[in-house]
Amino acid sequence: MHRGFFMSGSIKLPHSCPKCGETAYTAVELQEKFGYRTTSSKSASNQSWCKKCRS
Ligand SMILES: [Zn+2]
Repeated sequence: MHRGFFMSGSIKLPHSCPKCGETAYTAVELQEKFGYRTTSSKSASNQSWCKKCRS
């Protein structure tokens, strides 16, 4: 199972920032725009805002 970049399934794509509407359509965009780590799904699920809105 090498394709499981969202193994936990806690984040669904596309994902949009509820504040500014920034949307990530791929896992790469998600990491770039939102800073999610696919390996830490627990904390990622608590960070729905993008990097800009969280800063
Ligand atoms: Zn945002």
